[in-house]
Amino acid sequence: MRWSDSHCHSTQGYSPQLRQELAQDGCALLLQGGIAPDEWSIQESLLDTGPPHIVPIFGIHPWTLATEDEAALELAWQKLEQRITSAQGVGEIGLDPLHAKTRDLQERQRKFFIRHLQLAAAHQKPCVFHIVRAYPEAIHLIAREYPEVRGLVHSFWAPAALAKPYLDAGLFLSLPPRIQKGDPHGILRYAPREQLVFESDSPQHFQDGSVSTPFLAKESQKHVAALWGEAWEVLAERQCRTLEALFYRP
Ligand SMILES: [Zn+2]
Repeated sequence: MRWSDSHCHSTQGYSPQLRQELAQDGCALLLQGGIAPDEWSIQESLLDTGPPHIVPIFGIHPWTLATEDEAALELAWQKLEQRITSAQGVGEIGLDPLHAKTRDLQERQRKFFIRHLQLAAAHQKPCVFHIVRAYPEAIHLIAREYPEVRGLVHSFWAPAALAKPYLDAGLFLSLPPRIQKGDPHGILRYAPREQLVFESDSPQHFQDGSVSTPFLAKESQKHVAALWGEAWEVLAERQCRTLEALFYRP
């Protein structure tokens, strides 16, 4: 029996104790979301410490794009071009106007989104998409200009009409832990099981001082398997195979 987390961050590293607990529990894969050059280095430093296996994903996060200055971003971009062959995917990339309040910043996010997509297409790397309040705009761009690009949409949360073009494009939807509290959009009914994966987006810091871990992804998988009347081991294995097929490229 093995399971995986379709989106998390090793920004503070994983303590040896947590890694051991994850490994003993059958956690096989931790798919990362890239943020910036220093953080890619943390991912790389963890590569040979598994299980669980770290799947390195490099990219400049849409939030980073909204906070860093142009010169720093161009430098980061050069590093990304130099280091992309060490990554198994490009991400997090996308549009997030909630964190890019001005037109200039939104335009910058869009420009870098296109650059990342070009890089992913050129190197045949799958993508981890971060898209907030821009689902139609983002898929329009992907499906029209880069139909060959594969990947998953991290923290997807929207009704069927917004999901349909992503599912039709063969992309995967990675659902956040809040699926354990309810499914107001009916995602678990409208999306094919084969195109759904479950993430922790850990570490998240809560008000009571606690910090989430990849185990939150396992809890989602158990919760959803019970709703679907499926053995959770079956769901967990399907997710592992989905992530391997998507992100392990020869
Ligand atoms: Zn993330």
